[in-house]
Amino acid sequence: MSLHSIKSENTKEKKGNSNKYKRCYDLYAEKSATHPINKYKINDHPTDPDLSKNLILDELLLDGNAKQNLATFCQTDVDINIHTLMDKCIDKNMIDKDEYPQTAEIESRCVHMIADLWNSPDSANTIGCSTTGSSEAAMLGGLALKWKWREQRKKEGKPCDRPNLITGPVQICWHKFVLYFDIELREIPMENGRLLMSPEEVLKRCDENTIGVVPTLGVTFTLQYENVRAISDALDKYHKETGLDIPIHVDAASGGFVAPFITPDLVWDFRLPRVKSINASGHKYGLSPLGVGWVIWRGKEDIHKDLIFNVNYLGGNMPTFSLNFSRPGGQIVSQYYNFIRHGREGYRAIHQACIDHGVYIGEEIKKMGIFDLIYDGKGALPGVCWLLKKDAKVKFNLFDLSDRMKTRGWQIASYTLPKNAESMIITRVLIRHGFSRDMASLLIDDIKRCLEYFEKHPLVKPLSKEEGEGFHH
Ligand SMILES: *Cc1c(COP(=O)(O)O)cnc(C)c1O
Repeated sequence: MSLHSIKSENTKEKKGNSNKYKRCYDLYAEKSATHPINKYKINDHPTDPDLSKNLILDELLLDGNAKQNLATFCQTDVDINIHTLMDKCIDKNMIDKDEYPQTAEIESRCVHMIADLWNSPDSANTIGCSTTGSSEAAMLGGLALKWKWREQRKKEGKPCDRPNLITGPVQICWHKFVLYFDIELREIPMENGRLLMSPEEVLKRCDENTIGVVPTLGVTFTLQYENVRAISDALDKYHKETGLDIPIHVDAASGGFVAPFITPDLVWDFRLPRVKSINASGHKYGLSPLGVGWVIWRGKEDIHKDLIFNVNYLGGNMPTFSLNFSRPGGQIVSQYYNFIRHGREGYRAIHQACIDHGVYIGEEIKKMGIFDLIYDGKGALPGVCWLLKKDAKVKFNLFDLSDRMKTRGWQIASYTLPKNAESMIITRVLIRHGFSRDMASLLIDDIKRCLEYFEKHPLVKPLSKEEGEGFHH
């Protein structure tokens, strides 16, 4: 019997039907199972549907187990009701706002709820939208900055052919944004132990061509929050001194759904008038299944009107701003479900539990004596990062540790830090909904087991940067 159940009804051969799906006594004794399946060309003939499904599911067993994937920020724990909602919505196209007006209404409610979560001064009238993820949201946020800057430059009769954007060590989506939309990136490198952007470094890079500054709330490499308030204060001062009024877009891909619940007093959002737009991934700490991001603007005046396409919608006018046209609606419906189902209290409890697991893992890692923590799990995203102590006398590196942990199914990312800090190899563990203290102790036991293994079997040649560089997006 295969791993995956087969509906007995389907296995009966239909009378008088062509023998397209003719069955022998067992699926795995059929030709398609006893011969290699096509990999590079579409078959000439159909294959039995159940067998097709089984063959593919069997291949997918080679993928990692998502729950043990501590390298990703993305949601891997999906409750049964989300499965139902996703199934019911599988045929709903987000862009067909007149065919599926209630899905559009739900999207709009989410926009206002998120605007309110981020302390928008006028959340009921905010403008914003869902996207496929934070990357698309970042493109839209960045485009709005570029158009606002250009409009102002044109008004002043000044050239607008050399826009630049200032960021700290950013996620790859910002590298894409500047490349696709022809903008100079002024990325502040990590330096002498400073792993985040600082107000001084931002000011050094500002000029009349700066379309905006992008701090990150939950930096990909270290999980920490950049200090949005300090950046905003510095830009206020710069504005007074130079007359240049540079807006902030916050990349809160992960932190946007953590900070409001865990550190509500941290001022990083629309409470700062200079923050004009914010993006976040619903499919990260927003707890929704893969495929949803959000971008919200402070006010309608923060997007150039020409960027908005108006779609007729039930006699009204539906503004849309997006890169893709067709998009699934289920993720957005699931986002709304999560807001209703968990409420603020639920989100707080879920994320606090994750934070606590991260802190616990950090403490245990520290006790091992050979690691230094870069981030101890407190104050920002749920998780922890560490590196090998400079004087640690060991016969392996962190790439080897990640590699060895895979033998127990764990996926933990080890990577070198970006420009100017490339010599630092760090390991990062992310904790998400669906993780328990029991799993945390299993993880720690397995790390100890790996260390013992390396002790007994010292590596002749530790993995190089190229061989070992793990997934760190
Ligand atoms: C994950 C992430 C992104 C990209 O988000 P997607 O939803 O994966 O497209 C952008 N910025 C930061 C800081 C991230 O963590």
